[in-house]
Amino acid sequence: MSERLQKVMAEAGVASRRKSEELIAAGRVWVNGKAVTEQGFKVERHDRIEVDGVPIQKENLVYFLLYKPRGVITSVHDEKNRSTIMSFFPDVVQRIYPVGRLDYDTSGALLMTNDGELANKITHPKYKFEKTYTAKVKGIPSIEKIERLEKGVVIDHKKTAKAKAKILSSDTEKQTAVIQLTIHEGRNHQVKNMFQAIGHPVMKLKRESYGFLNTDGLQPGKWRALKVSEVNRLK
Ligand code: URA
Repeated sequence: MSERLQKVMAEAGVASRRKSEELIAAGRVWVNGKAVTEQGFKVERHDRIEVDGVPIQKENLVYFLLYKPRGVITSVHDEKNRSTIMSFFPDVVQRIYPVGRLDYDTSGALLMTNDGELANKITHPKYKFEKTYTAKVKGIPSIEKIERLEKGVVIDHKKTAKAKAKILSSDTEKQTAVIQLTIHEGRNHQVKNMFQAIGHPVMKLKRESYGFLNTDGLQPGKWRALKVSEVNRLK
């Protein structure tokens, strides 16, 4: 992800954005060995930035897997002061943010990072990153309806991509079922809308896994840092 040079400088604590602009205008900032005086010049994370010949220290890249509980907002700030996922990271100094989103009432695996490049990559539709959900739904869907989920249902005039679905359990007395659904798109409220489209509204939703990352060993509200091997696998 490219960012404006003065923003990167300010975030690295070199100076305020304004002061950084002055440093750029004065020809004191070099990118990959060349002086840059153009305001708004875009840099990538791997670019080498120097001010008066001294390289700037960029923020360490960090990666966490949170088991988001129900009842918190997937957002860094909330205007209405509701509880957000940031409340689980009081001591993390890096400016992390969620990769993608889970609804307020959805629990499960949520990746948090300050690596914009990686976040952009895995949320890009072409990357086809798989997400697996378990949904408790009203009623017991027929095999035909499960097949409809797999082939694609129409939401907002657009068919969903191919998915994998299976019934994990059903309760004939309560008339509910638990379905596992794997999708690789990331449309708004996609899982709930898919089940709505087949006439079986979601009562409870959990994202079991995000790619190869799952909530095994985590409790709701707890997180772990990714292993280096996991980060490399994502890149
Ligand atoms: N699909 C939904 O409907 N909700 C989520 O939180 C995630 C996927």
